[in-house]
Parts: sequence; C-alpha cells; structure tokens
Amino acid sequence: MNSIIKYLKGISQGLNTLWSGMKVTGYYFFNARKEIITVQYPDNKDTLKIPERFRGRVIMVHDQNNEHACNGCTMCEMACPNGSIKVITDKVLDPNTGKSVRIIDQHVYYFSMCTLCNLCVQACPSDALAMDGSYENAVFNREELTFVLNLPGSKIRDNVKD
Ligand code: SF4
Ligand code: SF4
Repeated sequence: MNSIIKYLKGISQGLNTLWSGMKVTGYYFFNARKEIITVQYPDNKDTLKIPERFRGRVIMVHDQNNEHACNGCTMCEMACPNGSIKVITDKVLDPNTGKSVRIIDQHVYYFSMCTLCNLCVQACPSDALAMDGSYENAVFNREELTFVLNLPGSKIRDNVKD
C-alpha cells in the first residue's frame, strides 16, 4: 500500500513540476512580443554602444601625428602568458646626443592566440597599448589574425622615457 501511495505522490510531484515549467513557457509564448530582450544584431550596429571596458583586441595607441608611446622595452611581451606578442627592436643613433637608442621596428601581435587577458596593457609602463572595441574579428585565414601594431611611418613621441 505504501509503495502505491509513494508512486502516486511521485506522479503528482512530476505533474506539479511540469505545470510550473509550462506556466513560464506559456507566459512567454503569449507575451514575448511585448518584452523583446534580444539584441537585433546586425540591424543595431549604427546605434550600438560598446562599453569602455570591453576587450576587443589589443591595439597601439597613436595620436594625430602618427606618434605612439612604445619604446620597445618588451614588458608586454614578457607579461603575455602565451607568447601572443613579439617586439622586434632596432638600434639607431640619436642625432641630438650621438648615443645609440632603442626603437621598435615591429610590434607583432598574434590575435589568434590572444586570450584578451589585458596583462600586456597593464604591464606597459608608458600606456602605449589599449584594448579596442572591435567585435567582428572572424576571418577565414588564420594569417589575417597577425597584426603589426605600430602603424606604417609612425614614431615614438618625444616625451616618452627610454
Ligand atoms: S591580452 Fe593577454 S593574451 Fe592577449 S596579447 Fe595581451 S597579455 Fe597576451
Ligand atoms: S607596448 Fe609598452 S610594454 Fe610593450 S614594448 Fe612598447 S612600451 Fe614596452
């Protein structure tokens, strides 16, 4: 007798749970159009506001004179946990002092390996790096995910410490 009661109780609990779930489903079935919460991508691209702290991909910040703050110290490369950055430097003679100074030749960024952890941005002593707001980064060819972050023709700003 006890087992029959237990069995019926189980069925009753099952139906109760089903009813609770169906109530929610039924509510959204009839009210969904009044409460649209999904984002209508890509129709909303023009009005989309990317939050300031969004991490799209790493970029080097350049000003209007095409100057940046990277002195090639390689701190970002050392901070990166998975080798997504390679800083290639060069030595040139400073015409003012006659001394040899280090400049970057190429600041290479392998986006395909980057986990967007932001450690390189935090490690940079001169705030030369930042995360941009890009979010459409899918490509067919993996090689297209390798970037040289210093723009062509750019140079280091005068007031950046060595
Ligand atoms: S965000 Fe993280 S993983 Fe990506 S390059 Fe910077 S340190 Fe490396
Ligand atoms: S981006 Fe910053 S940390 Fe990286 S090499 Fe340049 S100055 Fe150094």
